[in-house]
Amino acid sequence: MTNFATQLIHADDKDNRVTDVAPPITVSTTFRYDNNNLEICDESECIDEMDKTPVYSRCGHPNSTRLESVFSKILGGDAVVYNTGVSSFYAAMVHFNPKRLFIGESYHGVHAIADIMTRNYGLKQYSLNDIESYAEEGDLVHIESPVNPYGVSINIQDYVNKAHRKGAKLVIDATFAPPPLQDPWKFNVDMIMYSATKYFGGHSDLLAGILVTRDHEVSNRLKVDRMYLGTIIGNLESFLLLRSLRTYEMRILKQSENATKIVLYLQTHLIEYQGVLKEIIHSSLQTEPWVETQVEHGHTPVFCIKLETVEQAKQFPSKLRLFQHATSLGGVESLIEWRALSDPEIDQKLLRLSIGCENVEDLINDLTQGLEQTKKD
Ligand SMILES: *Cc1c(COP(=O)(O)O)cnc(C)c1O
Repeated sequence: MTNFATQLIHADDKDNRVTDVAPPITVSTTFRYDNNNLEICDESECIDEMDKTPVYSRCGHPNSTRLESVFSKILGGDAVVYNTGVSSFYAAMVHFNPKRLFIGESYHGVHAIADIMTRNYGLKQYSLNDIESYAEEGDLVHIESPVNPYGVSINIQDYVNKAHRKGAKLVIDATFAPPPLQDPWKFNVDMIMYSATKYFGGHSDLLAGILVTRDHEVSNRLKVDRMYLGTIIGNLESFLLLRSLRTYEMRILKQSENATKIVLYLQTHLIEYQGVLKEIIHSSLQTEPWVETQVEHGHTPVFCIKLETVEQAKQFPSKLRLFQHATSLGGVESLIEWRALSDPEIDQKLLRLSIGCENVEDLINDLTQGLEQTKKD
């Protein structure tokens, strides 16, 4: 048994094919058959076999296999890796094929996929408040916690209980608090989804998604579907993501610690920025007792601030030197976003911050000089 940081670096040692210490970028789409072992197998048998012996890269390739070795270890189940976070959600929808989807506040791309399925196949969508009244066996509940863009937690156990009482399955998008911060298996969820574009990738240079299941038959079926949906991660992205994973624990812990310190600083100095800074929103400020049992090893590095006026919120990112004004999150560089640019429906006084790995004092100084400037305007 090894621990988290060791698994990130060594869980794929068993997949070594060459003597290189750093896994090579394998660009080949096709791989020579072993002429001494030409056995015909059906699709699901082939899946386990293809992890050992690659055949065609849409089915699996050396570095996607390595990624799945590492993710399966650190995510506590069978991990299936996709080319994007949204395609991992699509794969979950194809797998569960629900007639009814119960969905709360979630990533906009996830809602957009559900809407495509409603448009094309008549999928019925309900809110999370409707689970007890309408859910039935075969239905799916999709939750996100901590939830985008606020970085606040919703009660996972509560929704799992409601779904299971009705015979429905529950998928959680846990992108905002990947392990070791949060472990959704503790609450008996049915499947976990992550956008690996965010914290696992961590350098704003690749797209990837993951589904994790505790049922090996399910992961094999997901891999067969993935082969035909054509949604496997690319070769170069696999190499980059593997490289990112080696340092993942250090990054996520630092990002979480930085964010929590910044939130605490702003909250305790709120009065000094009266007229500018109205509110700070983050799971470290939630007081419900179940929050600590969910994000037990650190809070999400994402939080929101609300300024007093729309104009202040619109101008604030341009006053910062370290924080870059961009969407997305999870990278080593801190980002801020006037959220209305991504979500036209949202409160235009809202800014979302994604905290990186910089020195925390420098980040606090950057934000406070920005708030001071805004005060003078
Ligand atoms: C970014 C994100 C996604 C989508 O991931 P992509 O890799 O961009 O496709 C899904 N859910 C959440 C919570 C996200 O932040």
